[in-house]
Amino acid sequence: MDNCIFCKIASGRIPAAKVYEDEEMLVFKDIEPKAKVHLLAIPKVHFKLLSQMDENSSAIVGRMMAKIPDIAKESGCQNGYRLVINQGGDAGQEVFHLHIHILGGEKLPLNIV
Ligand code: AMP
Ligand code: ZN
Repeated sequence: MDNCIFCKIASGRIPAAKVYEDEEMLVFKDIEPKAKVHLLAIPKVHFKLLSQMDENSSAIVGRMMAKIPDIAKESGCQNGYRLVINQGGDAGQEVFHLHIHILGGEKLPLNIV
């Protein structure tokens, strides 16, 4: 997707503070962190919304979820973390390329992303 900021990060066209990368996912630091640790995990393939997942993309997200615990722990979330997916306008989704917020590194308040 040409004008998708997260596709540009995934392809290296714009920089990000990457903490993990493999053939199908990328994890990088949120540019405006809402917690001591605030990472975003994205699939490299573009899809907009959780509600648009098909069999292939949900399998990718499943494999991402399986890797997140180790990535979170290695990034400073030793005592737990929160995963958030904002779906659509009411949730305040700003970037329409599916992403999983990983928040932790401190005791989290209830409303942060
Ligand atoms: P959401 O509201 O769920 O769509 O969250 C989008 C998130 O992307 C926000 O927390 C932003 O701070 C973050 N963000 C936007 N642009 C960038 C960027 N270039 N690098 C890292 N994080 C970004
Ligand atoms: Zn995209």
